[in-house]
Amino acid sequence: MAYDSNNIFAKILRGEIPCTKVFENDHVLAFNDIAPKAPVHVLIIPKGAYVSFADFSANATDEEIVALNRAVGEIAREKGIDATGYRLLANHAEHGRQDVPHYHVHLLGGADLGPCF
Ligand code: C5P
Repeated sequence: MAYDSNNIFAKILRGEIPCTKVFENDHVLAFNDIAPKAPVHVLIIPKGAYVSFADFSANATDEEIVALNRAVGEIAREKGIDATGYRLLANHAEHGRQDVPHYHVHLLGGADLGPCF
């Protein structure tokens, strides 16, 4: 699937749509999910134009991949959910029910999330 530069996260990255930013560096932006499913629900996205995990894992540079993963851990520590725990989730394509076609990781925590399956 080709990257659609009009997707909502691309607009957030360009500053055309607001977000509640929680983290930013050269490669990564993270912001609170607009419809949180847990007390902590942060979306962590690469600044590069990657549609999905499949696209990101295959085509991002090592630097981008490391930056995103390190950001996830850093945000969890900053949010104070490292000790109590959290869930990471990346929906991919149709069967994964991915809505926004710009790769993102959901970081969920701040309460017992219950069983995943
Ligand atoms: O993984 P999926 O693509 O389904 O998740 C998209 C997420 O983006 C949803 O949790 C939705 O609430 C969030 N969202 C947001 N801000 C927007 C539009 C969607 O946080 N402006």
